Amino acid sequence: MSEEFNLIDRYFLPLSQNLSADEVGIGDDGAVLTPPENHQLVVVTDTLVAGVHFPLETSAYDVAWKALAVNLSDLAAMGAIPGSFTLALTLPENDPAWLESFSLGLAELSRLYRISLVGGDTTKGPLTVTVTANGWVEKGRAILRSGADEGDLICASGCLGDAGLGLKVAMRTFEGNQQACLSKADMESCLEALNRPKPQLDLGRQLTDFASAAIDVSDGLLADLGHILEKSSAKTGRVLGAELYLDQVPISEAMRKWIDETGDWSLPLSAGDDYQLCFTVREKDWEALSTRLVGLQMDVKPIGRIQSVQGVQIKETEGGEVLSDVLSIINGYQHF
Ligand code: ADP
Ligand code: MG
Repeated sequence: MSEEFNLIDRYFLPLSQNLSADEVGIGDDGAVLTPPENHQLVVVTDTLVAGVHFPLETSAYDVAWKALAVNLSDLAAMGAIPGSFTLALTLPENDPAWLESFSLGLAELSRLYRISLVGGDTTKGPLTVTVTANGWVEKGRAILRSGADEGDLICASGCLGDAGLGLKVAMRTFEGNQQACLSKADMESCLEALNRPKPQLDLGRQLTDFASAAIDVSDGLLADLGHILEKSSAKTGRVLGAELYLDQVPISEAMRKWIDETGDWSLPLSAGDDYQLCFTVREKDWEALSTRLVGLQMDVKPIGRIQSVQGVQIKETEGGEVLSDVLSIINGYQHF
């Protein structure tokens, strides 16, 4: 259908930039790309379905931002340099205003992280956005989930839980007058965390020199740390678990107010959509990593430790008692 081609030329062709003269982006049956020497290809994909992965009211700009950001976040967790991406877009209708805003969001994020759109597919149906992105990592240097071992420090970047609180703001799922503890600015910053996650690509690149394992926090800290434990246990052939120290888990001012009001730690521990990195590092490597990250003004905190005991134990402080009440709150939210 010729309308489809107009749509692609108008909204997506301008994003197919920064390719070298012998590479091919949008417009042929496939993209033709030249891999950098001595690198390995990292490929990631993620689908967002309207009403499932984002509220139906989400702006087109934010849908585009999130669809690309969640893929960039996977590349970040692998320690990869962004390469290019494709976009499979299913739309209920050809709505120029929606597409204009969508392509602006996509253009802005792809410009910020220097990644080109090189192809895709456009179909009619319920709003669904699939991005497949690729990136590059020096041979043998990809950071895997499986490299953690007993004694490693567990670290997290940024603040955790704000996207979960933002979802409550967006969906108005507060109980009673709970939201009164949050200012307008708090709510806006949580909505921003939900709708415009900042993939931690620069941090991921630094971690290739230091981290033993990494994952991006998409399903919630406990679930995602659980993936590191599962893969690393399988790799080492030993039982690996973790302890986490609540007083070290990085949270925003807004989240601090929320927890003071409700006593509920489930958002930082198990809400998804933060797209920060959770990684492990051998204790002997922490000082060098920390010095480097402080110099780069990258915000990372140790929040716990890998141990040879099954499961995740949560303590108020390092050396404190295990908090069984916190665990029971969180179990209600767990995926595993
Ligand atoms: P084919 O039938 O060979 O799969 P299409 O007709 O679907 O090709 O698409 C034509 C060109 O436009 C291809 O280069 C394809 O990659 C690109 N394209 C289609 N939809 C999109 C989209 N949503 N975003 C970016 N590029 C797209
Ligand atoms: Mg074809």
